[in-house]
Amino acid sequence: MSSIVGPDEDDPRGKPPVPAEVQDAIRTLIRWAGDDPSREGLVDTPKRVARAWKEYCQGYEENPAVHLSRIFEEVGGYDEIVLLKDIPFQSHCEHHMAPIIGKAHIAYLPTDHVVGISKLARVLHGFARRLQVQERLTAEVAQCIWDNLKPQGVAVVIEATHACMTARGVRTPGVTMVTSEMRGVFRDDHRSREEVLKLMGN
Ligand SMILES: [Zn+2]
Repeated sequence: MSSIVGPDEDDPRGKPPVPAEVQDAIRTLIRWAGDDPSREGLVDTPKRVARAWKEYCQGYEENPAVHLSRIFEEVGGYDEIVLLKDIPFQSHCEHHMAPIIGKAHIAYLPTDHVVGISKLARVLHGFARRLQVQERLTAEVAQCIWDNLKPQGVAVVIEATHACMTARGVRTPGVTMVTSEMRGVFRDDHRSREEVLKLMGN
């Protein structure tokens, strides 16, 4: 069992308590990195880091598919591609827990219903706010839309930089990784795929 440290004076009300063992783990990491976790500037850092990680990983507490449960069937005969472009997102790589920062383009070809456009971004964030690899993030977003919206096609393209590559290791700032996942007509019909990629600006 983990002991819970209650909110103290300098914690604004409503902030969740951070278990002592979590704070200890972050202190250990600070020490390991070469600093003194008891010095003034670092005293409250473990709590801040812990709460920040809860936020980075909010996706574990939701099922992104719920965002696709409310559909609109009156689309006025619209039967072309719906595209949400340049959606900024942040995730963390599961290998280094380092930031992945990028943008996504999400498109689908509706059958006879659509969703509110912001829902596509919510699906993305639901999967991005977890420990991820970019390939899986791309596939999970595409699969979720494919399974729940049952469109004729779905296309997801993600461009992102990985801090584990730009800020450490080979240190190659500016390098972008691009992944894509296609389902339905965007996978099977090359003209549809070319059309959606052109709309995405690729
Ligand atoms: Zn990494």
